[in-house]
Amino acid sequence: MAFPPSVVQEAWRRSGGRCECRRTAHNHPYVRCNKELVWENRGATGQRGCWEAHHVTAGGPDIASNCEILCCDCHAGTATYGRP
Ligand SMILES: [Zn+2]
Ligand SMILES: [Zn+2]
Repeated sequence: MAFPPSVVQEAWRRSGGRCECRRTAHNHPYVRCNKELVWENRGATGQRGCWEAHHVTAGGPDIASNCEILCCDCHAGTATYGRP
């Protein structure tokens, strides 16, 4: 399961290039993370602005509404905390 590039681009435009995470268990409780991301650093680790395209619903469709732009930290956190 992977998002087509066009879907990731659509989700990226929607996000404004910032992390869309709203998980309350993270270090940004009750507000959007909003960390500034760098398009070229998708999938990188430990780099400034690194991010990943995350399925809102695991196993769900590869469409923009199911694609969440998350910074590295938040993406790593989804494995620990699961979805809200
Ligand atoms: Zn984040
Ligand atoms: Zn988060």
